Amino acid sequence: MDADMEENRPEKEGRKRKRSSEIAKQETDRKFLPHWQHERTWLVYDTEQNSMFCTLCQDLKMDNSFTRGCQSIRLIRIREHEIEKNHVYAVSQAQRSCEQWEIAKRNALLQTKIGVLNCMNMAYCLAKEDVAMAKFPSFLSATECLYVTDDLSKTVNIGVESYRNELKAREFIMCLADVIRDSILEDIRLSPAFAIGVDESTDISTVEEMVMYSWYLKNGIPVTTFLGLYAMPKADAESITRTIKETVLNYDIEESRCFAFGSDGASVMTGCEAGVGVRLRNTVEPHMLAFHCLAHKLALCTKSAADGIEFFGNFDTILHSIASYFSRSGVRKKIFLDIQKALGFESVIRIAKDCHTRWLSKGFSGESVYDTLPALVEEFRSSAAHSDIAKTLLSHVTSVEFLGTLCFYKDILHKLNLLSKCFQADNIDFEVAADLVQGTRVGLEA
Ligand SMILES: [Zn+2]
Repeated sequence: MDADMEENRPEKEGRKRKRSSEIAKQETDRKFLPHWQHERTWLVYDTEQNSMFCTLCQDLKMDNSFTRGCQSIRLIRIREHEIEKNHVYAVSQAQRSCEQWEIAKRNALLQTKIGVLNCMNMAYCLAKEDVAMAKFPSFLSATECLYVTDDLSKTVNIGVESYRNELKAREFIMCLADVIRDSILEDIRLSPAFAIGVDESTDISTVEEMVMYSWYLKNGIPVTTFLGLYAMPKADAESITRTIKETVLNYDIEESRCFAFGSDGASVMTGCEAGVGVRLRNTVEPHMLAFHCLAHKLALCTKSAADGIEFFGNFDTILHSIASYFSRSGVRKKIFLDIQKALGFESVIRIAKDCHTRWLSKGFSGESVYDTLPALVEEFRSSAAHSDIAKTLLSHVTSVEFLGTLCFYKDILHKLNLLSKCFQADNIDFEVAADLVQGTRVGLEA
């Protein structure tokens, strides 16, 4: 038995050696399978070295087979590494820094969002107040100088650096305008009916422009809103009608619900054969009402009435000369204001200049002359010795004719200006307008 065992030992050891060399060969022959990396972002396989590495352990400079390079390419080795103490620690550290990164990222995004919103708010405020966008960066800086708590060291930081410039401010305004316009257009689309109002003017570069407004109902309440400003290469009835129709079409508003059209009453607008009102009535809605703006109409009526009175022409020229006398000289203006103070005026008044296109603005000019008459007489009297204009104006403002007309003028235009202001309210219905006209008539006749 022992002899047999002795005989068999070399054979057994030979088999054992053979088996372990086979295992070693199998191990070196094993291939790395890419799907082992699934959900193991830390696992890296180096084909040249035929080794597996753990990037998490490498980052923390751990000393283990996966930092030196594991050549036993088996899944079981990876699993064993996963539960090794130093690998578990490396994973927890990585998760922690990942969470910190997420928090930092969230905070940075929040700060950027707040910064952009602050910039947008500032741009919106400047636009609403008609402040030039060039002032945008300085307004942001000024706001940052405001103390926001009792602690004087705490100030606010507004906006992302790259957004603090005029160009970005304009971009913000355009974005905000899109949002505001969309909400207005949606309201008009939902309104059972709407009206269009237009007026034309020439801008400073002599380009003909047309402004367009809309009136509509929102929750049963009338709303007036600005629709747009359009450059008009030609300001004839055909071009104006086309621009109105194209605007309504582009804004996706149903044109057949346009029931009224308002204008300044120029013949191109209200002409009974080919005016814009008639053209819209013929092509959009046969029952459309065309209105001549009440405030324009009032100004025209007043002007026609005044044209019939001979002295009014001279009177206007004198008022204009008085305004020019002061507007052309800072010294005269200052002396005039000093005289008012010396005469005990409660508040100093400047002579208002009338505006040719707004006839009723003459009322304000007349009123300022009426209110400062003693100071005016004093100024012209003291300057008459060395100024012919002052001398002439003195003779005018002290004449009975001028003084009588001034009182008359002030009385009438004051009432008409109040009426005009009422007509220019955002919304006014015809019943109220009729009452206002009646009330003004009674006031004038009294
Ligand atoms: Zn590891």
